[in-house]
Amino acid sequence: MKSLLLGALLLLTSGQSVNFFSLKQDVEIGSVASKEAEQALPLIRDGNLNRYFRSIGQRIMRSPSLPTLQYRFRIVNSKELNSLGFPGGSIYVNRGLIEVAANDAEVAAILAHEIGHVAARHGTAQLSRQLLVQAPISIAAGLPTGDAWKDQLTRLGISFGVDAPFLRYSADQEAEANVMAVRLLSEARFDPNGLRSLLEKVNEVQTAEGGRSPVFVFNHPQSENLLLEIADEIDRISSPRQRLASASVDFKAFHAALVKVASPDVDKAAHSEIPADTISPVFVHPQDFYRLSYPQGWLVTRTPPNGGIIAPVDGVQTSLAGNDVTRGAMFDLLDVTGSERPLTLEQATNRLIVYLRQRNQSIQDPNTLRIVPGAQSQTLLSDEPALRTIMIGKSTATQSAEIVWVVTRLYYKSLFYMVFVAPEEEFPTYQPIFEQMIHSVRLR
Ligand SMILES: [Zn+2]
Repeated sequence: MKSLLLGALLLLTSGQSVNFFSLKQDVEIGSVASKEAEQALPLIRDGNLNRYFRSIGQRIMRSPSLPTLQYRFRIVNSKELNSLGFPGGSIYVNRGLIEVAANDAEVAAILAHEIGHVAARHGTAQLSRQLLVQAPISIAAGLPTGDAWKDQLTRLGISFGVDAPFLRYSADQEAEANVMAVRLLSEARFDPNGLRSLLEKVNEVQTAEGGRSPVFVFNHPQSENLLLEIADEIDRISSPRQRLASASVDFKAFHAALVKVASPDVDKAAHSEIPADTISPVFVHPQDFYRLSYPQGWLVTRTPPNGGIIAPVDGVQTSLAGNDVTRGAMFDLLDVTGSERPLTLEQATNRLIVYLRQRNQSIQDPNTLRIVPGAQSQTLLSDEPALRTIMIGKSTATQSAEIVWVVTRLYYKSLFYMVFVAPEEEFPTYQPIFEQMIHSVRLR
């Protein structure tokens, strides 16, 4: 196992864009996932609406620079601003997002952006990252080949369908999809400025709703200088003969008919909400710096002044060396002042990992806790940027392999951190609970 692991770790250092899947597997995975999604998505089946929408998509997919895939374009009867592009080419856009568009170029911009994600294979790249996070050891033992991927993913509890976590992209992937969209729009003779104006409107919706992000922004996290990046790309490629965005007669007929389609009675409530019965008790910091929810029945041990351990009854083993958490979560604040300049999140996280190794008996030997290269990813904690670092360890209590997640976020002059631990074979069971705990954190 040891040599296999080393081989995989070397492979993983090769870069951020590791993708274990083939283009053929993209098509297979997308076909399974989109079938599942269609059971949950209320599609608009009006022939005229679909004809116009498809014609825009087909104009973009004629680009010779795209891989040969069977793109499909569907309109979803939901007012929520969102769009989904499954690996292999099935693209679903909510009417809410399409209704924001004011001309053909803005409709084309949505589709070009999703086609960009599909063509650059961002879904399976995210899925590969997810496998690194959830199953670093089994990935090290053998990558999914042939038809085996489905069994492997199912066994790991990776969900498909509309909530598939691999449909949430990284900021880098967003930038890449936008650059591709600008080129595709230009090749298809749409005004690429449609992308910029559409994303501006999505931002305006966010401001208008008091900062509550549309789902689109959650799935497609845009960087702060996104609009400038797009403008640069447009300047780089646009020719003076570029068409200017204007609404065609066809667009006007399409838009007028779309807004008349009856809305589903209630848009499904935000599905990311935590069901009340799975997590209910709340841990509150003594001065209410932060609070977080945890599963019913788990035991709380406060570690003053700022931290705590929350674990299931069998999660903490007491040995001569002290308490060893084999399942559960530890969290605390680490003071990161003392240097001349404020530390970046990455620097503060590195300092934490050194600190954890020094402090925690179970991970004192650096060989027992290693960072999985490439398996550090950005996430959000209480609406602010955070880092999730994946480590592989060996429990001193049980000597078996364990997976450790370290989630970190800057909080004033300290680093708020959470360490989640579970034995490798139980990790798929604990992972959704850990995700919910991360999701529940509120820092004041
Ligand atoms: Zn995107």
